[in-house]
Amino acid sequence: MTQQKNKIALVLVVTVLAFTAPIARAVSIAENAQAKAVIVVAADAPEPERYAADELAGFLAQITGAKFEIVAPPATGKSRLLVGPVAAKLAAPDFTTDGLGSDGIVIRTAGDDLILAGGRPRGTLYAVYTFLEDRLGCRWWASTASTIPQKPTLEVGDLNIRYVPLFEYREPFWTDAFDGDWAVRNKSNGNSERLDAKRGGKHTYQGFVHTFYPLIPPQTYFNDHPEWFSEINGKRTYDQAQLCLTNEQMRKELVKNLTAQLRANPAATIASVSQNDWHGNCQCSNCAAIEKEEESPAGLLLRFINAVAEDIEGEFPNVAMDTLAYQYTRKPPKLTKPRHNVIVRLCSIECSFSKPLADERNRTFRDDIVGWSKIADRLYIWDYTTNFRHYVMPHPNLRVLGPNVRFFADHNVKGIFEQGAYTSNGAEMAELRAWVLAKLLWDPTRDGQALIDEFIEGYYGPAAPHIRNYLNVTHDAAEAAVDWLGCFSEPHRQIPLLRDSKQRLDASKSRRTSRPGPRRPAFPCAGRSAPGYVRLYDALGRDARCSKGRKCRLAYARIHPGRLRPLCGDSKKEEHHAPQRRAGGLRTTR
Ligand SMILES: [Zn+2]
Repeated sequence: MTQQKNKIALVLVVTVLAFTAPIARAVSIAENAQAKAVIVVAADAPEPERYAADELAGFLAQITGAKFEIVAPPATGKSRLLVGPVAAKLAAPDFTTDGLGSDGIVIRTAGDDLILAGGRPRGTLYAVYTFLEDRLGCRWWASTASTIPQKPTLEVGDLNIRYVPLFEYREPFWTDAFDGDWAVRNKSNGNSERLDAKRGGKHTYQGFVHTFYPLIPPQTYFNDHPEWFSEINGKRTYDQAQLCLTNEQMRKELVKNLTAQLRANPAATIASVSQNDWHGNCQCSNCAAIEKEEESPAGLLLRFINAVAEDIEGEFPNVAMDTLAYQYTRKPPKLTKPRHNVIVRLCSIECSFSKPLADERNRTFRDDIVGWSKIADRLYIWDYTTNFRHYVMPHPNLRVLGPNVRFFADHNVKGIFEQGAYTSNGAEMAELRAWVLAKLLWDPTRDGQALIDEFIEGYYGPAAPHIRNYLNVTHDAAEAAVDWLGCFSEPHRQIPLLRDSKQRLDASKSRRTSRPGPRRPAFPCAGRSAPGYVRLYDALGRDARCSKGRKCRLAYARIHPGRLRPLCGDSKKEEHHAPQRRAGGLRTTR
């Protein structure tokens, strides 16, 4: 573990907190709800920096009760909160954004002034939010719940912080995390977050994943060019298939189509050219020979992607090509390396998530990431942080979140997509997961368990001990068991645990409502999951009437996870017979 930390310390531009003067001076910001400082931002500063000044003024007003002026340089007479690189030069003429990239931050006192600035476009926003969060105690737990402290008198001692995040791309892919305010305040910058220009924008994909057929649609091309598609068992097909990656004519058509897409989407910074979401890679003699030579289908895929990336680079020098190392392409190739403008996104879908990815049970994934880390300059991760079959079911993987993000940091990873429940709110511990992941992606040296504890205290308030107890019970059981905790596991083995958990959650709900606190914690996911699943389990096997009036057995639904549906004698009809009422209120007969 110590070695791991040292390694991270080497690759990070480390946070430095140093006292630069022999006697610490304080910058006075407010006194008895009266402003003692002004906010300074250049009149012609980019939109995110002017928005950063607005956000600073707004939150300082909430914290102190004072009204803060936003003025243009030079602004003299009061302490100055200097927002952005141009304003920063008023107090530090040698201030530079060199080395800060797009997201790096500087928080530094200079005499009576405080510099809050960073790289462009997002660094200044992140400097402001980091100051509000780390120094003043603001927390943006969820889109509907924040903690803003009250401090009518506010001053800060000497600060000298410079930090550049290790991960350039940070996306906790949970519904609530798509909120633009939440995302920018928690320093996420991924494709799905509603981050407009003033919130600093984001990494924007053209296509996001599984784009082979969107780029070369079989309905357009197969009849005339069956040889562009996979040969499987001696026959060209597009059914559960991929593209024939040694076909030059197909590649030229794909480049033409991708070029048209990129011209229509000037915001794109990354273009996905990636396999369909199944196997079926081409077995033609040309493709098979390269896969054999590379000792992995990823070698053929990479040769293809490298060629596309070379063709695209001239017109789109700032757009990277993104492809997957997923299922049959997860193993790194023997010979070919990704080009400088190619991103490889390695996917952990086969892993067990009750143990860290570094654990022996995930050895094959561990071997693959070691291989990729040696050949890929821009290695991204597609990680899985929920149970996709049962979003509301307890998924005891919280303890591995921190170790796994550090594991990625130790293996040359530059971007992380943490896929969770993204189709609606209300999944198990969704807000906690999104927040903890955002903190880890910004700084992988943070202690995952400490972040979980902080969220539980801050978000659940008086109910915190019960939530912690519930999480401990489910996680202790998962650790003790030898079961594989996949991201599509069935819930049956957890039912006894859930019965126990339900009692704890019932207690926590009564506590929460009896003691109002300063926060507004919704009680969304955990409160539904255990009781909901116990109720479902108890209904399993009972008889019910389906919409056609037949007497059927109840079973888990596959199309709508988390519900039970009447299972008719002909199992193929299962999904066609809507239940008379939703699960939880299902009418059952003995
Ligand atoms: Zn082929």
